[in-house]
Amino acid sequence: MTIREIVEYPSPILAQVSATVENFDKELKELVSDMIATMYAAPGIGLAAIQIGIPKSVIVFDCSEEGNSPQSLINPKIIKAEGEVNSEEGCLSIPGYRETIKRSERVLVSGFDLEGKPVEISADGLLSRCLQHEIDHTKGKLIIDRFSRIKKDMFIKWFQKKNT
Ligand SMILES: [Zn+2]
Repeated sequence: MTIREIVEYPSPILAQVSATVENFDKELKELVSDMIATMYAAPGIGLAAIQIGIPKSVIVFDCSEEGNSPQSLINPKIIKAEGEVNSEEGCLSIPGYRETIKRSERVLVSGFDLEGKPVEISADGLLSRCLQHEIDHTKGKLIIDRFSRIKKDMFIKWFQKKNT
């Protein structure tokens, strides 16, 4: 279990589309255990493999109140989405930034466990938001890619100010 460095905006790595995992091997289990350690150390409630520079479709998350139920999902996909809800969100790859984002209220997500067995997760609330955020990462999408032009300009100003 190794805590890896988190890739931050504006690294072009974050815009990469992650590849589908084909091999459910020891290497995958090691990747997931590193990702969980990195997520908790940050601390955060979700992490995608691309955020540690690995372009594989793998996400980890823990939306439990106690923060002691790490879960992983391989090749996650949203197969059903319902409703709309606005809520504030942050991203470990954009430290210090939070903004309101519109997301689906409920989602049905499919994927695979570490053994390659198909799984489905039906989610609402924080878990639904977290899954949608992490699945966006596997497609090379960040929260700012969901912004309107004006909001994105405001973000860029915030980022430039932070880095001067
Ligand atoms: Zn993120």
